[in-house]
Amino acid sequence: MSQAQAILRALQQVCGSSTGTPGQPIALHEPDFSGTQAWAYVRDCLDSGWVSTAGQWVTRFEQELCARTGAEHAVAVTNGTVALRLALHLVGVSADDEVLLPPLSFVATANAVAHLGAIPHFVDVEAGSLGMDPPALAAHLEAVAERREGGVFNRSTGRRLAAVLPVHVFGHPSRIQEVRAVADAWGLPLVEDAAEALGSWSDGNHCGLVGAVGTLSFNGNKLITTGGGGALLTQSTELAKRARHLSTTAKLPHSWAFEHDAVGWNDRMPNLNAALGVAQLEDLDRRLVAKRRLAERYATALENLTSVELVAEPEGCRSNHWLVTLRFLADDPAEAEAQRLQVLEAAHADGLLLRPVWRLLHQLPMYVDAPRGELVVAEGQACRLLNLPSSPQLDEGWSS
Ligand SMILES: *Cc1c(COP(=O)(O)O)cnc(C)c1O
Repeated sequence: MSQAQAILRALQQVCGSSTGTPGQPIALHEPDFSGTQAWAYVRDCLDSGWVSTAGQWVTRFEQELCARTGAEHAVAVTNGTVALRLALHLVGVSADDEVLLPPLSFVATANAVAHLGAIPHFVDVEAGSLGMDPPALAAHLEAVAERREGGVFNRSTGRRLAAVLPVHVFGHPSRIQEVRAVADAWGLPLVEDAAEALGSWSDGNHCGLVGAVGTLSFNGNKLITTGGGGALLTQSTELAKRARHLSTTAKLPHSWAFEHDAVGWNDRMPNLNAALGVAQLEDLDRRLVAKRRLAERYATALENLTSVELVAEPEGCRSNHWLVTLRFLADDPAEAEAQRLQVLEAAHADGLLLRPVWRLLHQLPMYVDAPRGELVVAEGQACRLLNLPSSPQLDEGWSS
């Protein structure tokens, strides 16, 4: 049996027939509302007429998010991209600023920067957690940044460096305390893209709560979904207040008058979506257990295969295992990529919808000219990573 066939067999042992109907493709991560109160809560919205951007479910969802994460404040918005854009605006990012972020992320991280007219500036990741590499950030700032009147500036472009934006990739916490120490040393605000990391913790902190603001996504493929949705998490009462204000057209509270004191956005999550969110959050623990078990079963099934490993939960961290990720270990990146392609082709032919990691952001046409440091680790890793089907419903114990 070829190595690719052996890997495919191992994966099929874990998720091959768990969804029941043979021949049905097995997706990467699918929504599931079974065993929850989703119908009842959505019905309440329809029966009461409270379907839009105000209502008890939005408040309840935000309270539940705080209870689950330890955040002082949560502000629910329409999606994770909007949450990032608002978070960056709140910490002072504006047009023609640069924001430091890793190239190994979903495109939304860079897009949120661009939506403010700012420019993504890429710094390298570390192979372990796949998150931003603190020493690489420190060395790159040493090389390109200078402190001047009005902030920190990129010596070669002359633009202001306005924020640091690390990402917790596939649910694994990145080395956020060390990133924060570097950002603090330069006086740069920190925003965490925790879109994939609900239920992930490092050193007793939920992801998203070490920086000034953290953001979550509740898109259909995330750990819990509201259809579409996102949230900002923060310990700052002031930032939360501004987030609410700016996300509701900056309208001044009044029974009838339409008075607005800033250019705001219409970003708030509708009650209908929040009702789904409450039902899903009530199910969070069961999901985390199922996903941990699924990750462990993958690890066991792949144990004896020497050409691959799973991206592991970083030390001292609790990962939500959002997407279990296979790493091809061949020294030569081209060889790893070729092996990955063989597994991809064989798996897709068999209805196992594996995905290679995202195209690195600095290689996308809209960001090819963006400023960057050395991205050797990101480039060395991106060719060898493969996301595996990771829905909690693939766990054997799920439907019982
Ligand atoms: C999903 C995701 C987002 C964006 O969230 P949407 O709700 O899809 O807008 C941002 N960053 C990362 C890393 C994500 O995975």
